[in-house]
Amino acid sequence: MYDIIIIGAGPAGLTAALYALRANKKILILEAKAYGGQIITAHKIENYPGIDNITGVEFADNLYNQVKNLGGEIKYETVLKIDEERNVTTDKNTYSGKTIIIATGAKNRKLGLNEESKYIGKGVSYCASCDGNLFKEKTVAVIGGGNAALEDALYLSNIAKKVYLIHRRDTFRGEEAYYNALKKKENVTFIFNSVCSKLNGEEKLESIIVKDNNENEQELKIDGLFIAVGQEPSNEIFANLIDIDDKGYIIAHDDVYTSKEKIYVAGDARVKKLRQLTTAVSDGSLAAIVAISEANN
Ligand code: NAP
Repeated sequence: MYDIIIIGAGPAGLTAALYALRANKKILILEAKAYGGQIITAHKIENYPGIDNITGVEFADNLYNQVKNLGGEIKYETVLKIDEERNVTTDKNTYSGKTIIIATGAKNRKLGLNEESKYIGKGVSYCASCDGNLFKEKTVAVIGGGNAALEDALYLSNIAKKVYLIHRRDTFRGEEAYYNALKKKENVTFIFNSVCSKLNGEEKLESIIVKDNNENEQELKIDGLFIAVGQEPSNEIFANLIDIDDKGYIIAHDDVYTSKEKIYVAGDARVKKLRQLTTAVSDGSLAAIVAISEANN
């Protein structure tokens, strides 16, 4: 029996682990893929208080090492279900926890085009910092209007010959500082009020069709397409047990309590106003404090 089972090893889950280990709790961290979560796709983090400039991978490594040095260990298993008694079934085992913290974050949203998955790894990417280097001196396009898309376009403008930034509206949701920096780049072209309606190519992506609000279409010859249209949660497996909103986010009372006793939520997986690194680690610490107190009872 673990004091706390933490599902997800992103910033929220690892912060919860850090706090729980410092309180001498017996914890289990379950992660389906790799530690770090979405932050590993950030080229540069410049808005984390007290750290001037760090890459997402460095941040994730530092946090992971902090947890590891306290004796924390991640089991790389995919959670399939949780039951009323807080038994957590994975693809390999079943574990029991006095408490559970769900910190499963969110995953990249797809554009939703039929042919999209065919080109993943063949020109289509959801992570500029992971795949950007494959497009040195090539032509790429970024889709989206949030901070991720703006950051991706800025990052790629230093690598690629040409960057198109395609957004469905005429104003960006992302911060003005990024937009101002992009406007200074000669190799960046903005395409507003437009969506990508088709991907073309034999073996790999060769061009995309971009359609504006008046249904005018143009074909852009590109080598790479970076899709940065936000995230969506993956909480389906918890839906039978805890309350989830119509967009799939876990409903959290007082920022941490789910509808089920002794099951808590932290980070992007929950309903919240701001999904950033600062709020994820804040959530992780709060969930740990609540779970530690419950496990002590
Ligand atoms: P986001 O802020 O939700 O933006 C998603 C963008 O994609 C929006 O501009 C949206 O358009 C567009 N979009 C959504 N679905 C689309 C579709 N099917 N086709 C075309 N466009 C579509 O997501 P994000 O940029 O990934 O950022 C997520 C969170 O992380 C945000 O809170 C963001 O501030 C944060 N973040 C912070 C940093 C940083 O601070 N350095 C970096 C990255 C991300 P509309 O605007 O029209 O809705």
